[in-house]
Amino acid sequence: MSGNRTGVAKLPDIVPADDRIPFPHTDQALRCRTEPGLFAIEDIHNTDEDPRAREKALVKAKHACSGCPIVTGCLKWALANADLTKAGVWAATTARDRKQLRKKLVARLGEDWVGVVAEQDRRRRERQRASRVSPPSVRELALARLELESIPTRPAPYNRWKEPITPAQAASNRRVLELVASGKAA
Ligand code: SF4
Repeated sequence: MSGNRTGVAKLPDIVPADDRIPFPHTDQALRCRTEPGLFAIEDIHNTDEDPRAREKALVKAKHACSGCPIVTGCLKWALANADLTKAGVWAATTARDRKQLRKKLVARLGEDWVGVVAEQDRRRRERQRASRVSPPSVRELALARLELESIPTRPAPYNRWKEPITPAQAASNRRVLELVASGKAA
């Protein structure tokens, strides 16, 4: 899935997306795809009939984004792709909001802030992958044991048919069998 939308001002195809921050994947239907006109707020004009038409549209678009499952990733993508997001609402931000946010990112992370953010994302993904595959440490195992031990458990009732017999019981059983075999126990 790319970040381009139908309905929002078409930008030249030659503008490539910055692939360091890919547009997030989701199987869910996105409002900006199903109702693109809602996000193209530059196309909405105030009229005498409705002097607050654009303001209302903006509130609606921002509200739609606030319930989006990929809003954080979408914002990152929109900020990293200034040329592809010159207009419209993306991740509840207007073009002006995004301009200000980019300035802040440059001030905080430097001119190559996209590279810095992409690297942070890569490291986070690596950490998540490592935490999924690496076995628990000795300390983690000890803590898990401690947790188990501290859970009060009631001993199961004794079941003579399920419990293993003791060596003394085994010897006694053997003696009885030998007596039966020799006919002395009759
Ligand atoms: S946050 Fe908004 S603009 Fe971004 S994908 Fe979701 S609905 Fe679309």
